[in-house]
Amino acid sequence: MRSVEFMGRAVAPCKIVCIGRNYVEHIRELANEIPDEPVYFIKPNSAISETIIYQDGLHYEGEITFLIQKGRIVGAGVGLDLTLREVQSRLKAKGLPWERSKAFRGSAVLSPFVPINSWEGLAIEVYRNGELVQKGDVDLMLYKPDFLVTDIDRIFGLDDGDVIMSGTPKGVGPIMPEDAFTLRLSQNQKPLLTFRTYCLNST
Ligand code: ZN
Repeated sequence: MRSVEFMGRAVAPCKIVCIGRNYVEHIRELANEIPDEPVYFIKPNSAISETIIYQDGLHYEGEITFLIQKGRIVGAGVGLDLTLREVQSRLKAKGLPWERSKAFRGSAVLSPFVPINSWEGLAIEVYRNGELVQKGDVDLMLYKPDFLVTDIDRIFGLDDGDVIMSGTPKGVGPIMPEDAFTLRLSQNQKPLLTFRTYCLNST
């Protein structure tokens, strides 16, 4: 099992539950409809990675992440929900599941998690090769973290160590070989975490 780091310990998530369309500006960016209920999809443990392995058509989605223990949020981090955008568009057009585009090996690039007492005031910034490309905070989310935890637990069940990726703000885009990403998590303007990751060319 692959693991993530929380307070110096390795935690192995059974699953990563992701929220699609949780920021209005990003919904407009992809010309999607505003959902009347959250859109969920799941990445398996084998999706967890610390780096990006390049493949054609790969896009980044920077997201605030949450670590669950005993049915509640105990930690926060940042991550990239890697997406094969053209594959996803093709599957969506046919009404098929998205797993090929969203749940492939290495598709969840996750930072370590830091303990938090509250999700209020959390914000993310995503820099690609030093340029700010995405910026968002919990106030901009359609579905807030406490609702998501309750709803996801009711539907799928949440186990200790499971991770929630809370959706991406606008500014998603393609990844090129050797791209470097810096993701910053803050709470009420106070820095909590800086995570750096790179795109390795597998060939
Ligand atoms: Zn996403």
